[in-house]
Amino acid sequence: MKPEIFLLPYADDYILYAPLKKFLAVVNSDARDAVIKRLEELPLCEAEETALTALDKHGVFSEDFQYPKVDEEFAPTRVTLFPTDRCNLRCRYCYASAEDGGHKLSMSAARAAIDLVARNSKRKHFEQFAVGFHGNGEPFAAFDVVQECCEYVSEAAEREGLKYRISTATNGVLSEERLDYLVAWISDVNVSSDILPDVQNSQRPLANGQGSFEYVDHTLKRLDKAGIQYGIRATVTSESVGRLREMAAFVKQHYPRCNLLHFEPVFEVGRALANHFMTPEPQVFVKEYIKAQEELSGTGIRLVYSGERANTYCQCFCGVCSNGFTLTAEGNVTSCYEICTYQDARAGRYIYGRYNEETGQFEFDKEVISKLLQLQVKNIPFCRDCFCKWHCGGDCAAKLLGDKPLSAHAGSERCVITRALIYRQLLQKIGVDVTNKEPVII
Ligand code: SF4
Ligand code: SF4
Ligand code: SF4
Repeated sequence: MKPEIFLLPYADDYILYAPLKKFLAVVNSDARDAVIKRLEELPLCEAEETALTALDKHGVFSEDFQYPKVDEEFAPTRVTLFPTDRCNLRCRYCYASAEDGGHKLSMSAARAAIDLVARNSKRKHFEQFAVGFHGNGEPFAAFDVVQECCEYVSEAAEREGLKYRISTATNGVLSEERLDYLVAWISDVNVSSDILPDVQNSQRPLANGQGSFEYVDHTLKRLDKAGIQYGIRATVTSESVGRLREMAAFVKQHYPRCNLLHFEPVFEVGRALANHFMTPEPQVFVKEYIKAQEELSGTGIRLVYSGERANTYCQCFCGVCSNGFTLTAEGNVTSCYEICTYQDARAGRYIYGRYNEETGQFEFDKEVISKLLQLQVKNIPFCRDCFCKWHCGGDCAAKLLGDKPLSAHAGSERCVITRALIYRQLLQKIGVDVTNKEPVII
């Protein structure tokens, strides 16, 4: 395999980045020219050979390297359960267009899924298995299912002699009883909230149209006081992007023990499309995101955007290509949080199984599972020359590819954000103080 080396502009010099060698250095233009010649197998003069000696010492040109690995054996040790697809909110940009009615997860299916991941963890000699609640609805809208599942997780762990971790996403509009339960049972909570009262009330109203801020604020303050690990995920629109610093300041003031503040641009799908919500201009998102980062500097609150992960090496943006095991309220098994039902035209690629209530077994489609493995960034032509490829993993397959062939991947505006923020992380790794520095759009 040819070594993978990226040369990125940096002031009058260049950053040489060999991600698979975890090598990063600043080189001048002469060294850059020599690197290009070496890669193109052109003859080098003595001075150029000397310039490359240090890089040779670090094995930068060596063909001995490995791509990030994915687990090709289907044996998930984590399951995400969708207790229901109904919701007590009517977020105006909801990708799932969730509302009343809908489905409720059967407990026999949930128990079988918990047993499966517990058994796999034991077989793999792991110390623990993981169960998460998420949904194309609010998990706690099916509170009885959440309760029964948590209790069954504890039983399964005891039976297998394992530890467990339960996490949940929630919209934070919870009764006191549900909040008590959540604090008692769940160790990792991710609250979807647009933080500022006016933004939250307008973008994430209750089902009756009234504002939801006071409920979510109460939940966040309770989590803060309880000292459990929690994060806040805010969806950023073209209207709210100018207020990211204000949001960060609000979190710092009101929820100081929040571990993670997650900003994610809205996707123009579901109700976001119907309500004409627009994703922010990527350059504007990057600038405002950096201001928010500065606001949080020196606090224990880590700001994240899903693509900003220079310390992650992967083949896939999420678990979609390998061992992504999500059981939907309808009883489908899908590799993707967003593709839950066969009414979705993309279902054939992502939904790979179903729980059979009569036999009490999962029926998995091995062919679909094996084809999902193809969704690795090494196979995506569009990402081939991107210096972020092993960190980004080709971004969200459901949105960028859907059911189309890999050759149809054409990136998105999110690539601009991902590249600018990862480039900034690389600068930090080489010791550059990026405070007050304009982002480089690369
Ligand atoms: S809380 Fe989530 S599922 Fe419910 S309406 Fe809002 S975005 Fe949709
Ligand atoms: S493919 Fe996209 S929507 Fe599906 S789970 Fe991964 S990131 Fe989420
Ligand atoms: S081209 Fe875009 S999607 Fe592909 S790896 Fe780079 S940033 Fe990610």
